[in-house]
Amino acid sequence: MYISDIDKVINGKLCPNNCQMIFNTKNQNYKRDLARHLKYCQGPETAKQVKLDHLPKPYYPHISNNKLLQKLVATGQSDLLSPTLNYITFDFETVESIINGVDNLIAQLEPLPIASAATINGLITTLYFDLRDGTDFIEQWISQLFEVAIKVNEANQSNIPEVQINDKNYIPYKPQVSVIGFNSKKFDMNLLLKHLIKNRTKIQYMGSTTQAKQTVVSHQDYDFDLRFIDILSFIPPNNTLKQFVEKFGTKGIKLTK
Ligand SMILES: [Zn+2]
Repeated sequence: MYISDIDKVINGKLCPNNCQMIFNTKNQNYKRDLARHLKYCQGPETAKQVKLDHLPKPYYPHISNNKLLQKLVATGQSDLLSPTLNYITFDFETVESIINGVDNLIAQLEPLPIASAATINGLITTLYFDLRDGTDFIEQWISQLFEVAIKVNEANQSNIPEVQINDKNYIPYKPQVSVIGFNSKKFDMNLLLKHLIKNRTKIQYMGSTTQAKQTVVSHQDYDFDLRFIDILSFIPPNNTLKQFVEKFGTKGIKLTK
């Protein structure tokens, strides 16, 4: 990505000597002020220059970080890439527990149950855990999730093209199983994170403190990673779950609260 007209973005004219002064182009004294400034402006204290790429590049981390695609491009077979058909979806049901009670300003979301569905070759396997399974029900769910993901991963691996790279320096990549939430990048992932940071798991987190763009969880007992993503990061904004499901094409499925 690059900015073609910086003046438009900052809504003003930057001093051409890069001293970071901004002039309001809509001000009637704009030309006079700029000319007056340029008489004494010495430029920046330390000279810095931005080097932009010759060609603008689109921002598409979900494609550019796709290890299989990288492998296929490297061997000139990128047309063999096909959609990933097997994945897991999940959702938390939460309740607000009010902390200070006086003006209800501070509330904390507490998870009640968690449910997930694994789609494996068109068949759906569900998992459901709630407080009745114990206070560690989220940990129980995570460990079962890895078990279910074994089959999801196997199904995905049997669908991908066989590509051999005969280079002794080539490091085979660890496959990822997508665990997809709907609007999960804020609350759901923050709830999950503290449970995911457990023994024998390693986390690669992408995003800010309040918004998890992508969380990759590795477990030493499994030869694949779980990749938690929010489907809302990949579709246009302002979609309700109902609208999304309709567009996704699951005709006949009724959503209930
Ligand atoms: Zn200047």
